[in-house]
Amino acid sequence: MGKALIIGAGGVASVVVHKCCQVPDVFEEICIASRTKSKCDALKEKLDGGKTKIQTAQVDADNVEELIALINDFKPDIVINVALPYQDLTIMDACLATKVDYLDTANYEPLDTAKFEYKWQWAYREKFEEAGITALLGSGFDPGVTGVFSAYALKHHFDQIDSIDIVDANAGDHGYPFATNFNPEINIREVTANGSYYENGKFIETEPMSIKRVYDLPEIGPKDIYLLHHEELESLAINIPGVKRIRFWMTFSENYLTHLKVLENVGMTSIEPINFEGKEIVPLQFLKAVLPDPASLGPRTKGKTNIGCIFQGTKDGKPKTYYVYNVCDHQECYREVGSQAISYTTGVPAMIGAMMILTGKWKKAGVYNIEEFDPDPFMDALNQYGLPWQESFDPKLID
Ligand code: NDP
Repeated sequence: MGKALIIGAGGVASVVVHKCCQVPDVFEEICIASRTKSKCDALKEKLDGGKTKIQTAQVDADNVEELIALINDFKPDIVINVALPYQDLTIMDACLATKVDYLDTANYEPLDTAKFEYKWQWAYREKFEEAGITALLGSGFDPGVTGVFSAYALKHHFDQIDSIDIVDANAGDHGYPFATNFNPEINIREVTANGSYYENGKFIETEPMSIKRVYDLPEIGPKDIYLLHHEELESLAINIPGVKRIRFWMTFSENYLTHLKVLENVGMTSIEPINFEGKEIVPLQFLKAVLPDPASLGPRTKGKTNIGCIFQGTKDGKPKTYYVYNVCDHQECYREVGSQAISYTTGVPAMIGAMMILTGKWKKAGVYNIEEFDPDPFMDALNQYGLPWQESFDPKLID
């Protein structure tokens, strides 16, 4: 049916490639392109020989001209951006120039400002409409499936959603004293930033990690959860009409937070460049270089993740609560695709989003967040491609 250009060859890209190869009728040909070509070649070597034809390429995704040349050469029907958020705009520019659909899993963030917002990518709406191409923003798990869950809850279970609590829990243990489950630089920028939540039309900022609760999660048990800012808050506040409050919660162990505090206190999480022995370095980028590569955590990580959304609102004039979530087992993911569950829960929805566009189910010109599309075919695909969801109509609520 189609050709996908996959940009990036890290933890998430590896899952996307595995999953695309499981659906060769949709993904007839893929090209894996990244900064380090040997990583693309290693992925190709693992998966070659199936029905999906695979090729690889070297590309600097910060360079629009290089991207355009690659797109013109491979002629994909869609570009799946699973490089880093810094490359979102250059890849969108290249898609515009070549009139190819676009998908990513994380919103644009300038390298020198640890603040992710949709404003840069939403500014491309008219250009994508005029070019007649689709940009699907945030097709990972969170953002991604959390937006699909919200659209699904609104479509099938509520007349009005009043509040959404997104809870992202990882009860996996990789055995290292400290490591991050996805790109350390992006992860640490996210968790050291101020928290925020949406209430009554406004975003309320909080000190990092200053709001904590304990939540008893299905199949995982009670965990400390901390309020964080997260990018889907911004789009859900607009796309779920009348919603009064949206909060995002993530689990962190005491051990993780203690390490992070020390690293922060000694200046290792700073993104301000410093001079070191005559060379300018960014402390956080140096820290990334000494931490374990998230892609290497797969074989070591045991336990489960549970990510879902708790909704409160009304249906037929009566109050209603609804919880929809996915539980994913790190070791089962590793057995299937050689990656841990964090990469898996991001890579599977990226493949499904691309499938929605390639099969024409989600094809409309413009720049869209995931909750703006019909959630039903995506929800079916989650069950089919490895992220089955469960629901509860009597969940515990977070105060
Ligand atoms: P990794 O660091 O493992 O992989 C990133 C890849 O991008 C690497 O292969 C890297 O190349 C490549 N890359 C970086 N810069 C460039 C460039 N200028 N040109 C070409 N390639 C480049 O990250 P992950 O796989 O963990 O994460 C990928 C994306 O997924 C990130 O944007 C992350 O924020 C997002 N994510 C989204 C989640 C969600 O639920 N929505 C959850 C987790 C992650 P090299 O190998 O040379 O370094």
